[in-house]
Amino acid sequence: MKLTLWTYEGPPHVGAMRVATAMRDVHYVLHAPQGDTYADLLFTMIERLPQRPPVTYTTFQARDLGKDTAELFKSSVRAAYERFKPQAMMVGSSCTAELIQDDPAGLALALNLPIPVVPLELPSYQRKENWGASETFYQMVRAMCHGRTRTPRTSGRPRCNLLGPTALGFRHRDDVTEITKLLDQIGIDVAVVAPLHASPSDLTELIHADFNVLLYPETGQQVASWLERQFGLPFTKTIPIGNRATREFIQEVAGLAGIDATSLANASARAGWYSRSVDSTYLTGKRVFIFGDATHAVAAARVAAQEMGFTVVGLGTYSREFAREIREAAKIYGVEPLITDDYLEVEEQVAALHPELVLGTQMERHIAKRLSVPCAVISAPVHVQDFPARYSPQMGFEGANVLFDTWIHPLMMGLEEHLIHMFREDFEFHDGAAPSHLGHGAAAPLSADAAKQPAVAAGATVLAAEQGTATALAAGSDAAEAIVVPNWAPDAQKELNKIPFFVRGKARRNTERYAQERGVHLITVETLYDAKAHFSR
Ligand code: SF4
Repeated sequence: MKLTLWTYEGPPHVGAMRVATAMRDVHYVLHAPQGDTYADLLFTMIERLPQRPPVTYTTFQARDLGKDTAELFKSSVRAAYERFKPQAMMVGSSCTAELIQDDPAGLALALNLPIPVVPLELPSYQRKENWGASETFYQMVRAMCHGRTRTPRTSGRPRCNLLGPTALGFRHRDDVTEITKLLDQIGIDVAVVAPLHASPSDLTELIHADFNVLLYPETGQQVASWLERQFGLPFTKTIPIGNRATREFIQEVAGLAGIDATSLANASARAGWYSRSVDSTYLTGKRVFIFGDATHAVAAARVAAQEMGFTVVGLGTYSREFAREIREAAKIYGVEPLITDDYLEVEEQVAALHPELVLGTQMERHIAKRLSVPCAVISAPVHVQDFPARYSPQMGFEGANVLFDTWIHPLMMGLEEHLIHMFREDFEFHDGAAPSHLGHGAAAPLSADAAKQPAVAAGATVLAAEQGTATALAAGSDAAEAIVVPNWAPDAQKELNKIPFFVRGKARRNTERYAQERGVHLITVETLYDAKAHFSR
């Protein structure tokens, strides 16, 4: 295992916990050393679930290793069964316990419990969390559907299952509600949602639906493919994130259900009109860097390019199992795909690409903050603020509205930018004046000269100019060299301020980039025009 400060995915037993915690009436006995119980916090602290995950840890200690840890495991399984009386039980080892080779599967089977016991073989040193969740869901479905036969229905509304949502998933809870509503409007009922909120007996019902809707391939594709092979249940390939994908999804499910959904497929979210109505300052050609699990990253790139008018300058994933999908999407946007689980590599690429917006995970939120770039979270891993109390799906038409709100607002200053332009010379409203709503308690306004510094999000850039020194935005990081910001000579600054405000930001960034690449520490009027000539070639 690689020790690291941040990580995109945990070990595979955390994936198994995501499935166990999502389900009802199951219990997971995890052979694990004392200390591994921290994993509970992910669910109770980050997702704010009202109860602890249904997991019993054997919590062996160093001194137990000389004794019989196998007996400890057996007594934990027995006690968990007596206490929780689940419909089915999962058993497995955490990374450390895997090394002592106690064979949880064999030990649990030897107990002859009167319920299905599903052994999980999750190779911690080769695989990660999403794979662990997918494999656990698959093993549970196989165990519960084994030996059953499907009886196709002949009457009633078409029925489908929703596959893939788990605990700790990014907006899974709200996506399930949104897609269930959408399917109902089309005339399709949802039979089983799994693993979220499904009991083991619900899993046995999966085979009686007409088809499956695959919401999250990282966790549900293995089950969807197996149900197709074993029971002839087709599954959807379109992930309904964004206006266009939602319309395609409606056509796809309607086709599978044999329903005409033309009128609904022509529907649209408010986001479509909103993005056409917004000032191009905030949208058109904005350079966006996207990173996350493959499903959300590919969908975000499509929405960004086709629905918002952004330019995708970077696209990547930590989901190695879905590298092919990301590579194919990257070709569409003409960018080099980034497949890595090393956040330092991601940080390096963000710093080098100078995006104007980052769409990523909790990690990219930290990275973007360090580099003073606006950011919106689009994928797990996420933190407590990504489990909002309000309804906030990513999928369906309402999901498209949520994407519009969460991606556009970090870029917007409302009317302020227009007003600043109109009143730039006014003593009260100049760029450097403290916000009026903060009253006299606000920090003292900058001097008139300083006020003419560009109003930028990159506070450190302004600071560098004021101090007369070149400053690295990400001091201490490996990327510091790449993002040293040069100073602006007063004449050059004056010239820059003559450029219309809606292109001034771009002109400033291009000039600074041009100067950085040539090791120029003071931008003069000449540098400004050289850069202009360079970028208009
Ligand atoms: S916010 Fe979350 S990811 Fe960031 S340091 Fe705190 S715990 Fe870690």
